[in-house]
Amino acid sequence: MSQRDDSNPLLSRQARLRARLEEKKLPFLLVSSPVNIFYLTGFRGSAGAAAFGAAGEASLWVDPRYTLQAREEARGVTIVEAKRGLLKTAGEWLAKRLPRVTGFEETHLTCAAAQDLKTQCPKISFKNAGGLIEELRCIKDEEEIEYIRQAARATAQALEDVRPLLRPGTRERDLAAEIEYRMRRRGAEGAAFETIVASGARGAWPHARASSKLLKKSELVILDLGAILCGYAADMTRTVHLGKPRARLRRLYAAVQDAQERALAVVREGVRAGDVDRAARGALGRHGLARYFTHSTGHGVGLEIHERPRLGRGETQRLEAGCVITVEPGVYLEGLGGIRIEDTVLVGSDGPEVLTTASKDDWIIL
Ligand code: ZN
Ligand code: ZN
Repeated sequence: MSQRDDSNPLLSRQARLRARLEEKKLPFLLVSSPVNIFYLTGFRGSAGAAAFGAAGEASLWVDPRYTLQAREEARGVTIVEAKRGLLKTAGEWLAKRLPRVTGFEETHLTCAAAQDLKTQCPKISFKNAGGLIEELRCIKDEEEIEYIRQAARATAQALEDVRPLLRPGTRERDLAAEIEYRMRRRGAEGAAFETIVASGARGAWPHARASSKLLKKSELVILDLGAILCGYAADMTRTVHLGKPRARLRRLYAAVQDAQERALAVVREGVRAGDVDRAARGALGRHGLARYFTHSTGHGVGLEIHERPRLGRGETQRLEAGCVITVEPGVYLEGLGGIRIEDTVLVGSDGPEVLTTASKDDWIIL
């Protein structure tokens, strides 16, 4: 392998996968998740199959719609146009090599497809290796971090751009549409997920969709947005109040902000995912609000908006430098609304780097 090949992130991901296959004593892995195929090969089509051998063989099967795209995008794999079914062709390839065992992704293959494969290769024992690539994806390389950084920047800028619309009379759905348009104008491919704008009592539902409701004075508004760029997502939530907030709302906002700061203060290489959750939950508990915090503190972000690790109660997975996670405590009070503050952060050896830099102090819109 030449010096230049070594520096290609796709080839180093494939090398990391081969090392894992050796450790797991799996001579081959059949990959059917499009996201995992993109991660390993660079091919971004919506359908494909790939196989990686611990000894270095690598093939990508695509249907004729995707042949040209695969030739353009994929690296480190032999591209094969499969005219008679992707998995059938992949199965024939495996049957010829006849490994004793082959890993496959149980959660990314239908029961029928798995059955067909077993019938086609009766001498191969198929073993679920689901999660193996997801584990590799936990730690981002330089290129991935750069894309997430840019996605986070576009996200924060888009919120800044729509500030003039944060006023009574704006329709939630119009605000969501404007946010998504502004993310594109700021360089994103689009929204990584449907933008949430939830005002007033609707904010008590943590994943409310933007509706035809108009924003009103003296209401909280939750805005949860994230851009996607080169396949990589960012995720950010800000809560604002239209007009001068009552003392109780100020206390609630200060409590959520405190919980988020305390959780961020814990984030660093080596801590358990559950420790970050405990810091947020503990802070809200001291403010008497633990029962209003109804979800986990965060999740990994990357090629998918929710990926490993999960920052929930008691999670023992340790954070590593290069993990990208969200920290997003919130409180939800029926009839009153919700407050959530969320950032996408990069885990480092001495602490987190917050990538979504929109202001959290500027929450009162007068
Ligand atoms: Zn979010
Ligand atoms: Zn999130």
